[in-house]
Amino acid sequence: MKLIFHGHDERYVVEQSLMALFPGELPVYEPVVPGDDAWAEITCDEASDHLAVTAGLFYHGARGVYTYGMPLTGSAFDREGQRRHAIGACFYLARREMGLPDLPWGMLTGVRPDKPVTQALAAGKTPQEVRSMLETEYFVTPSRASLALETGAAALEAARDLSARDIAVYVGIPFCPTRCAYCSFVSQSVEKSFSLVPPYVDALVAEIRAGGEMVRRCGLRVRAFYMGGGTPTTLTAPQLDRVLSAFCESFDLSSCRELTVEAGRPDTITAEKLAVLRRHGVTRVSVNPQTMEDHVLRAIGRRHTAGDIENAMELVNRCGFRHVNMDLIAGLPEDTPEGFIRSLDRCLAFGTDNVTIHTLALKKGSRILLEGLSVPGPEDVAAMLDYAGPALREAGYAPYYLYRQKYMSGSFENIGWSRSGGTCWYNIYIMSELCSILSFGAGGSTKMVDGGRIQRSFNPKYPKEYTERPEKWRDNQAAFAAFYGS
Ligand code: SF4
Repeated sequence: MKLIFHGHDERYVVEQSLMALFPGELPVYEPVVPGDDAWAEITCDEASDHLAVTAGLFYHGARGVYTYGMPLTGSAFDREGQRRHAIGACFYLARREMGLPDLPWGMLTGVRPDKPVTQALAAGKTPQEVRSMLETEYFVTPSRASLALETGAAALEAARDLSARDIAVYVGIPFCPTRCAYCSFVSQSVEKSFSLVPPYVDALVAEIRAGGEMVRRCGLRVRAFYMGGGTPTTLTAPQLDRVLSAFCESFDLSSCRELTVEAGRPDTITAEKLAVLRRHGVTRVSVNPQTMEDHVLRAIGRRHTAGDIENAMELVNRCGFRHVNMDLIAGLPEDTPEGFIRSLDRCLAFGTDNVTIHTLALKKGSRILLEGLSVPGPEDVAAMLDYAGPALREAGYAPYYLYRQKYMSGSFENIGWSRSGGTCWYNIYIMSELCSILSFGAGGSTKMVDGGRIQRSFNPKYPKEYTERPEKWRDNQAAFAAFYGS
């Protein structure tokens, strides 16, 4: 869509709005010429204490025009925020004038729509005031406003329990048995890259041990541990033992609230591996069926059946983990609202204390896009989520964290639901950027957080590059130590 600006150059907010509200459209900065049928013209008229924004959208024969006015107050920084808000709001309202339906999250285009909620609650606003802000200033639907209020409050609770030198630790295992159709992670199929695993484990153990020393030197406290991927349980039991031993021996875990390990694919779960996890004090495992429909599992390239998930859950339950999570995805290829409902009901029957409901995101590089697999439309995905929320609440779950990704079906969200006492704190820490995350392994993204200050460093993306270039993680750990003034 062509973008024409008058009186401003707020490209970022307009581009974010464009891509969220008109999926598939990309910004083009060229003059409109006869024959064009998709453009947006955004005009800002700014005086010392007032701003008027007019957005005109022209899209395949439809037209929507809206003018949005608001007072300008405070510092130059405050005014910049107000201008951006006015432009985003005006763009959204002009789209509404075109007769297009409202979106669940209104004009909020970011990854964490509950972030303004946490900030407003922390600033002393009442839940009613925050709800009103979401619905009238951001045009969020009442059901999403309720969700954001609950998850925003959970983030505030988590933040209040953290101190300035608290961190979380992430370990990445970028291997999986096969590649799922919706995946764009840098996860390697173990069958194809079997030889990479042993040197990867050696390198990881070295990085974890060095990281433990650095964290001790800096006087930091580990509050949560998360091992994800990929699928960590693609490692053998002795390999898992080595990695977890390195972690448990290198870090003081006396203040660590939880140790979570993703055991995502049932075809990687064995009693021996679960025993290793238990021995190292793992408090939560995550078994991720994504669907309990066998034909959908086949369509997404998982080499297991719903029956395998039942068997894996039996093993997990026998081991007696304190917490268990199960992930489902709404909107998978070949799934239907009825199929999704069956999947969720079967998952609820396991009685785990965590269930995470993702909405399919169409990621670049995924097989779904590369092979053009057909997926359920936004109405079907809405029907799936409309069933999930009330069913989970009825079964005793409440939402505790949520986030959005680009290119999600119907512009919905991913939500972590837990029963009382089942919160996975790591998920809140990372999504709400409440503390630093020290990441180990290929593709590890370390985030250093200190109030509003955020710095990032990245490990090499691919396992081979990671094992061959330890200097990169050494540099990252030096940057982490420097961030904490050590
Ligand atoms: S299990 Fe996860 S990381 Fe592995 S291929 Fe599937 S989506 Fe990707």
